[in-house]
Amino acid sequence: MKCPYCKEVNPPQRAKCAFCGKSLTQSQGVDGDREPIQDHLALAVLVTLFCCQPFGLVSLVYAIQVNTFLVGGFYKEAKEASEKAWE
Ligand SMILES: [Zn+2]
Repeated sequence: MKCPYCKEVNPPQRAKCAFCGKSLTQSQGVDGDREPIQDHLALAVLVTLFCCQPFGLVSLVYAIQVNTFLVGGFYKEAKEASEKAWE
């Protein structure tokens, strides 16, 4: 079995790579490394309604951007917008 991370060939039925130690059971690799993205949309709406409107509106705009990017498959852009939302 070929390790998706270091590309070394491991004996079959190994759970972990003998060379880099990473799990061989998740063969899709890259997607599994992604951390989940919070779009903060619900929170942004609440802040806008009950707290400070200028700050809430900015967060709302970013939260909507995050959703737009995620739908379009722009993971990096979505993550950046998500981080900007709660700076
Ligand atoms: Zn490896």
